[in-house]
Amino acid sequence: MLGLMQDWPLLCHRIIEHAARIHGNQEVVTRSVEGPIVRTTYAQIHQRALKVSQMLDRAGIKLGDRVATIAWNTARHLECWYGIMGIGAICHTVNPRLFPDQIAWIVNHAQDRVMITDLTFVPILEKIADQIPSVERFIVLTDKEHMPPTTLKNAVAYEEWLKEADGDFEWKTFDENTAAAMCYTSGTTGDPKGVLYSHRSNVLHALMANNPDALGTRAADTMLPVVPLFHANSWGIAFSAPSMGTKLVMPGAKLDGASVYELLSTEKVTHTAGVPTVWLMLLQYMQKEKLTLPHLKMVVCGGSAMPRSMIKAFVDMGAEARHAWGMTEMSPLGTLATLKPPFDQTTGDARLDVLATQGYPPFGVQMKITDDAGKEVPWDGKTFGRLKVSGPAIAKNYYRVDSEILDDAGFFDTGDVATIDQDGYMRITDRSKDVIKSGGEWISSIDLENLAVGHPKVAEAAVIGVYHPKWDERPLLICQLKPDVTCTRDEILQYMDGKIAKWWMPDDIVFVEAIPHTATGKILKTALRDQFKTYTLPGAAA
Ligand code: ADP
Repeated sequence: MLGLMQDWPLLCHRIIEHAARIHGNQEVVTRSVEGPIVRTTYAQIHQRALKVSQMLDRAGIKLGDRVATIAWNTARHLECWYGIMGIGAICHTVNPRLFPDQIAWIVNHAQDRVMITDLTFVPILEKIADQIPSVERFIVLTDKEHMPPTTLKNAVAYEEWLKEADGDFEWKTFDENTAAAMCYTSGTTGDPKGVLYSHRSNVLHALMANNPDALGTRAADTMLPVVPLFHANSWGIAFSAPSMGTKLVMPGAKLDGASVYELLSTEKVTHTAGVPTVWLMLLQYMQKEKLTLPHLKMVVCGGSAMPRSMIKAFVDMGAEARHAWGMTEMSPLGTLATLKPPFDQTTGDARLDVLATQGYPPFGVQMKITDDAGKEVPWDGKTFGRLKVSGPAIAKNYYRVDSEILDDAGFFDTGDVATIDQDGYMRITDRSKDVIKSGGEWISSIDLENLAVGHPKVAEAAVIGVYHPKWDERPLLICQLKPDVTCTRDEILQYMDGKIAKWWMPDDIVFVEAIPHTATGKILKTALRDQFKTYTLPGAAA
């Protein structure tokens, strides 16, 4: 027997309709790419999103067609998201930090028909324009006054384009399983892979993110997503914030410490979200200028492990540091480190111990850890296993790739190695390909990196396994020091000594000018492994 409830498909555009109707005057503030701060509202975003739909519809864009955006976090970009999805087209967010050839590869793979771009990326697109024949026209997110001369096909300034629409347009209702958006994983190995979100998965994910122990923003809060809309489905914030009527502050192209600080401060931001590199820049700037952020309640940090020292810096500032783990394939939220009882009563180091884990999943994400044979291993906080997940907002396949990605029980292998304790708190110990295998035992590169960045002179640290004739692999610590400091290998080794098992201690330390990063801000271990391929550890000469 079926239930007797209404058939109300979970469609993304219903979120912005709700925001416009119930929170219509709530502000969305943008640092525009042209420079000035621009203020709009959810009601206006809704109205302009309808115009985007009307214009795309007029251009013959149909259900299932791909429309790409390559743009910063701005209100205009948000309008485009909802405008594209509202007609059942697929909003393909392209990461501009990828190499131009990778961008061309992705656009070709997705067969995008329209490309919506910020001014910043016009030169990049001009260079690859003849490699992306599927794109019929380019829309530049600016007005007539700022529109540059360009060779891009059928290029038009967004504001001029929108002027041709009157907004008298209605969004359609279709199956909630219809594809809504796509995002390619950066593919540090192999080709990038397209993750295809559905309307249903995005709406369910927004509800999950709204849980107070997840992102949990309210109508009275202000959220500044530093995490770009083009990174992992904007961590769901493009849906969760409007669904709650939360004020949004969009940082545009300026993500340096001073610019982010300025917006956090002037707009009295309560919640913000981004990767550790961004918070490192912010904290360094605030420390140097002796600044505070009295309104800030929560800093969500994910994408890479949030170092304990960073958690402490935010906690000392009176903000909550919410360490999150997830991935593009998971829409992306997987777990968040929130203090549930009895841990909410802990103080000092014991409290930091919990906050530094990657946390536990909200309802809607199931996880397990397995050995190499696929057998589950215990949740004892010690046993490492491959982390696998299932849920309604987790990928079951990649776009236009035939191979199976789920195990027999329907779980997706995240490629991460983790422990889970009896309370459900998960700790990522490594990417399965980064873990250091020393004499048959595993050493967590992440744990060593986190410890090393706790040293006051270290800005960033990376650990890789280097060949060792006796142990197979031993850890090499690569450090980037803070500006204008000097430091010796022994200073750092002494600092680490006693804080980890003896056999986890790095065999050597090298200092570099800069640690390389991927397009999504993660340490590029493949490049480091290449660079130190022939490195001989002390005492390891064959
Ligand atoms: P890509 O960088 O390939 O686009 P994602 O952004 O989807 O991929 O990254 C997902 C991966 O990032 C995870 O599988 C995990 O390895 C890493 N990651 C994300 N959050 C954390 C975290 N809090 N701690 C450690 N690793 C993390």
